[in-house]
Amino acid sequence: MLHRTRWRVGPAVIAVAIASAACAPAPSADDGTVTVVAGFYPLAEAARRVGGGEVTVENLTPPGVEPHDLEVTPDRIATIQAADLVLYLGQGFTPAIEQAAGGAEGVAVDLLLDLPLRPASGEEEHGDHPGEEPEGLDPHVWLDPLLYADLVDRVEGALARADPAHAGDFAANAAAFREELADLHRDFERGLSGCERDHLVTAHAAFGYLANRFGLVQEAIAGVSPDQQPDPERLAELVDLVRREGVTTVFTEELVSPEVAETLAREAGVDTGVLNPLESLTPQEAEAGDDYLSVMRKNLRALQEGLGCPIR
Ligand code: ZN
Repeated sequence: MLHRTRWRVGPAVIAVAIASAACAPAPSADDGTVTVVAGFYPLAEAARRVGGGEVTVENLTPPGVEPHDLEVTPDRIATIQAADLVLYLGQGFTPAIEQAAGGAEGVAVDLLLDLPLRPASGEEEHGDHPGEEPEGLDPHVWLDPLLYADLVDRVEGALARADPAHAGDFAANAAAFREELADLHRDFERGLSGCERDHLVTAHAAFGYLANRFGLVQEAIAGVSPDQQPDPERLAELVDLVRREGVTTVFTEELVSPEVAETLAREAGVDTGVLNPLESLTPQEAEAGDDYLSVMRKNLRALQEGLGCPIR
């Protein structure tokens, strides 16, 4: 399928990972570092920040690819199963990775386990139809800086288990990163206070935790997965809502087709803006050296503009 050709990696990477599995105990990469395979960008970033020079991190979701329902090739399954540590999000976010992680030789950690998760259809959503399958839980915790800091804690714990000799380094790195996330949280709190509007119309329901943390109301066009597109009825409802609440900006995403969001904005007579759910960096962002913190600050500026917040 489409995804297959898009996310091939060099055979050397896989060969290294497979070879490392043969000589079992960690640390086991060629350079003596722990091999970490992360499901998508935010987890890879956390592993890099906490692991520093002691880990080799591979991100299973390449730049510019959206990780929901990511497909996994047999080569990638071998990489996952041979890694010292596999970090992923469960709850059906990436079922193929979840399944491959079940057969991992190293430690596999579902970082969402026991976190207080929101239902996939939060109160502000309108997709509920009696008799339909329950939608499960919302995995997008990384978009709330404080919940992302909780993930960082978990990554620290997992790395310390995989490589106890460097537990002190991991603890120090994690503490430094957590501090930066606390700063980011404070910037959001300040930046989103006193806004003219509180309704956040997003392309897919990725910003529920962020909205919840900062007193906003998310109205998503698609569901918690971008492929859950709205029916005409829901679209009409959104047009009404945009007009009623005086929404001035409908947010699109780089990695999801903006067509429906643009239609909505056009019908309601408002503008579009871009919010990045950080499920993957675009190749341009990766090249420009953007990271979680810099993209989140761009998101904050986009939110301030879209919601009419005083710029201090
Ligand atoms: Zn998402």
